[in-house]
Amino acid sequence: MIMSNTWQAQLADAYIDPLTLLKDLGIDPNDLPEKIALRNDFAFKVTRSFAARMKLGDPRDPLLRQVLPSIEEAKMAPGFHLDPVGDLDAIEEPGLLHKYQGRVLLITTGACAIHCRYCFRRNFPYQEQQLAKRRESLSLERIKEDPSISEVILSGGDPLVLSNERLRTLVTAIAAIPSIERLRLHTRLPIVLPSRIDQELLAILQKTRLKVIVVIHSNHPNEINDEVHQALEALSLQGITLLNQTVLLKGINDDADLLSHLSHRLFEVGVLPYYLHLLDRAQGTQHFEVEERKAKAIYEALLSRLPGYLVPKMVREEKGAPSKTPLIG
Ligand SMILES: *Cc1c(COP(=O)(O)O)cnc(C)c1O
Ligand code: SF4
Repeated sequence: MIMSNTWQAQLADAYIDPLTLLKDLGIDPNDLPEKIALRNDFAFKVTRSFAARMKLGDPRDPLLRQVLPSIEEAKMAPGFHLDPVGDLDAIEEPGLLHKYQGRVLLITTGACAIHCRYCFRRNFPYQEQQLAKRRESLSLERIKEDPSISEVILSGGDPLVLSNERLRTLVTAIAAIPSIERLRLHTRLPIVLPSRIDQELLAILQKTRLKVIVVIHSNHPNEINDEVHQALEALSLQGITLLNQTVLLKGINDDADLLSHLSHRLFEVGVLPYYLHLLDRAQGTQHFEVEERKAKAIYEALLSRLPGYLVPKMVREEKGAPSKTPLIG
């Protein structure tokens, strides 16, 4: 029997059928603002922990909208592509992306605990490009050969769906490269599966000589409940720097009041806002795009009402650019 309280068991117990979730939330599919797509190449997946923060009976709930597949996804729109940010051009080894000076990104896995419909990597060829175990040493060799690299970013998918054993091996191998000073994890798990932040993981991150940065991904203040707060506090107590990135999403968080509330809420739980991303134009996500003019107006409102350290940088990712591109300077 699987222990029902482990994070692995919770991951295995995620909702994989939108109609079951809607039933549990007491929502009639006919009341949804957009029809749901029941067959989809990018499967439906959401943890029960995240679903428990959705409002019962609310077909427009902002957490629900992030995960519910809509028939809009099948539409083609000009400017929306399979590889919107040029990831495939930046691959040095399978699983190793080197776009920006001084830091490299490892695609450690294609798996996530939740499938966000707006995901920029929803069409990424993970089968070919994830960091398979046997290729791991090759990628690490490449990193070792380039002493200008001082930071390794674990990404995916979500690096925290890897087992502690796998992470320990990876972190140890990275820490053995003398030029690497910082280890960064980009993960949604502290938000969507807070039980993942277990004692063993904390010990791995605490013992390494590397400075650790965890960039969480929260789009809405309703995502941050007590359980999330505790997971984040446990990370902070290990001296880990906590940052957040948000994707600006139409009908979910495209509102200055809401985003200032999110910044304050993040600060309460020990996290500083880092990036506010304009949507990457991945095929099937155009219904989430916020018009640039509106995005700028939201950003100016944030600047005028928040202390500087609570204003995330508003950026977009452009193919071939030397960094994320700030929308306004
Ligand atoms: C976004 C990204 C990074 C990180 O960029 P920062 O501005 O340092 O947060 C690094 N590598 C790749 C390939 C990226 O897409
Ligand atoms: S957790 Fe991140 S990588 Fe995974 S589906 Fe969501 S946005 Fe995409």
